[in-house]
Amino acid sequence: MAASETRTPIKRTRCPNCEHRLDAAVVADNPTAQAKPDDFAICKYCGCVMAYDQFMRIRPLTPEEASVAERHPAIQSLVRMVRTRAEHDA
Ligand SMILES: [Zn+2]
Repeated sequence: MAASETRTPIKRTRCPNCEHRLDAAVVADNPTAQAKPDDFAICKYCGCVMAYDQFMRIRPLTPEEASVAERHPAIQSLVRMVRTRAEHDA
């Protein structure tokens, strides 16, 4: 991850997909921005795409958001990057 990323502290939670503990996040489609509710978030361990709720907790995507994320080039390239790195670390 680039040094210019803005890490936003979030409520401690676990990734619903891989169950890694998450305590900070990067805004998937704008890495230098502070995360805000309804921004996309990506688990840095498994590449699972999620979003923030109004309390800055991780929540699953709605079906509409999931289809947006699937067609979002920046999100898809981040997901690929995370998954490639996860395979190398395994
Ligand atoms: Zn995960």
